[in-house]
Amino acid sequence: MSDKEHIAVAVKNRASNKNKVIVIGGGPAGLMAAEVLIQGGVQVELYDAMPSVARKFLMAGKGGMNITHSEPLDTFLSRYGKRRAELKPMIESFGPDALREWVQGLGISTFVGSSGRVFPTEMKAAPLLRAWLHRLREAGVVFHMRHRWCGFCNEKNNALRFDTPDGEVIAHADAVVLALGGGSWARLGSDGAWVALLEQRGIAVAPLRPANCGFDVGWSQHFSEKFAGHPLKSVIVSFTDAAGDIHTRQGDVMITVTGVEGGPVYALSALLRDEIEKNGSAVIRIDLVPGKDLNRVMGEVDHPRGARSMSSHLQSRANIRGVQSGLLRELLDRADFDRPAQLAAAIKSLPVRLIAPRPLDEAISSAGGVVFEVMDEHLMLRALPGVFCSGEMLDWEAPTGGYLLTACFASGHHAGRSVLDWLNSGLRREHLSVG
Ligand SMILES: Cc1cc2nc3c(=O)[nH]c(=O)nc-3n(C[C@H](O)[C@H](O)[C@H](O)COP(=O)(O)OP(=O)(O)OC[C@H]3O[C@@H](n4cnc5c(N)ncnc54)[C@H](O)[C@@H]3O)c2cc1C
Repeated sequence: MSDKEHIAVAVKNRASNKNKVIVIGGGPAGLMAAEVLIQGGVQVELYDAMPSVARKFLMAGKGGMNITHSEPLDTFLSRYGKRRAELKPMIESFGPDALREWVQGLGISTFVGSSGRVFPTEMKAAPLLRAWLHRLREAGVVFHMRHRWCGFCNEKNNALRFDTPDGEVIAHADAVVLALGGGSWARLGSDGAWVALLEQRGIAVAPLRPANCGFDVGWSQHFSEKFAGHPLKSVIVSFTDAAGDIHTRQGDVMITVTGVEGGPVYALSALLRDEIEKNGSAVIRIDLVPGKDLNRVMGEVDHPRGARSMSSHLQSRANIRGVQSGLLRELLDRADFDRPAQLAAAIKSLPVRLIAPRPLDEAISSAGGVVFEVMDEHLMLRALPGVFCSGEMLDWEAPTGGYLLTACFASGHHAGRSVLDWLNSGLRREHLSVG
């Protein structure tokens, strides 16, 4: 359907339907729910605490927005780990292909990068968001910005309280979609304050925890001052879990003031975080020179070095310099740094002990959220009929690679559809409806 056709359908449907749905949270999940709802012919009012919507989505677009992934659907679904089963129907109904088509429908083409990740052509979120908001407004979605949801105002669930610059506002709806995000990057709007509001109503929420995050190591001041901000290029990071399975990822690891971050660390972060929670620390091993085997490294390190220091020998024979060399010095005993066998083994498999994940606010995403067991398969809270949840506020996690946004869009889409079905079905409990 073209943009004009989308809008015409929405306007026509709405004229004959008096149901009003409130969506709270204008990130990708809430906006997608709003789109499905307005096309389904109900009146849609979207509330957000911030002065403008989708700030995290825009931030995601700054580093080259990775909207989804092109790998086979089965592999794609495996990225959601133990929540695969719950997310499967949503992603089968609005998954990577549908998402790319939808982006195309906004006049933005996508391309598949060498890693299989899918990006909008300009790698940015802003043009997509602009076109999308224009379409939503034209179709009739009403936006209320600077409206912070602060709970339900009665024993029922259809009257909602909002803090606004002009004082408290109470709004009523026939159904509500919550799309309040996770708990990271609070300055962009999703601060996790909703957790207490739902818990007060007896809704079980798994604690929000950092996902796709960096970790603290506790560097010496000297190493931190000299190497924070330096990347270890194209290294292999591995972690052996309690069952003895080895998980490896290759990419750039960034040295931070307190520890490490970057693609391979984020990809392993759920395992590492869980290991730290269980045992107090987690040890990763870094292969600093994936292109060379141990024998070759041993030959280079063991080559006669005359009067040269080990550091300058490493630089000239093995091309190990700068941050790589500094890291070996930081983590190896002084004596081992001068012993070829120990040094070569460390270059190929340097143990780095991680002592804590970085705080939730710094993480790319959150684990935890509204547990699936308190919702039906339509994402409606069993204890609060007419209230649906979607996006990162649900209890799932996934690595970066487009899986986060895809699940947010898919669950927003599913929540929107489910609300329409619920409003049109006999399941709706009339006593919950106030004008
Ligand atoms: C730096 C960074 C880069 C990222 N890059 C990628 C990427 O490339 N690919 C990818 O797949 N994912 C990426 N992500 C993750 C992705 O952006 C999020 O998973 C996604 O935005 C979550 O969508 P959401 O709609 O669930 O919540 P959010 O986008 O967080 O939106 C929630 C909305 O709810 C509003 N809100 C919260 N509480 C209230 C309240 N009480 N009252 C009213 N409104 C409220 C907030 O203001 C916000 O607008 C990135 C995240 C970050 C931080």
